[in-house]
Amino acid sequence: MSDCVFCLIRDGRAPVSLVHSDALVLAFMDLNPVTPGHVLVVPREHVVGLGDVDDEVGARMWRVARRVGTALRGGAVRCEGVNLFLADGEAAGQEVFHAHLHVFPRFVGDGFSLRGVWEEADRAVLDDHAERLRALVGQDGG
Ligand SMILES: [Zn+2]
Repeated sequence: MSDCVFCLIRDGRAPVSLVHSDALVLAFMDLNPVTPGHVLVVPREHVVGLGDVDDEVGARMWRVARRVGTALRGGAVRCEGVNLFLADGEAAGQEVFHAHLHVFPRFVGDGFSLRGVWEEADRAVLDDHAERLRALVGQDGG
């Protein structure tokens, strides 16, 4: 995937401001930060979406994201809160089709918002959705 910017970064063929590197994942500064301190946690392997990230890599992504979030909270940048965000698919806002987990600091008045209609649903609808999902998720979570 020579046209994938995250693969280019992984291969040392594009500039990067590196935060973390290990055998499974990289973490680096987002070139277009939504707030100063915005980090991306990216699998080394080129995989596209949430369902393509295997459990070991996913666990490492979470661990690194948690550590970055804690570091952001530690005073490196202005940070009153932290968001984790993963966009899986174009409809969800994914723009680079190499899976990545956003970690970015938040503060009052930072201008970031996640708009939506947050209305309470009927219990029958929630139960129906839960039943459909249970059948697909499986009891072991895999
Ligand atoms: Zn890639």
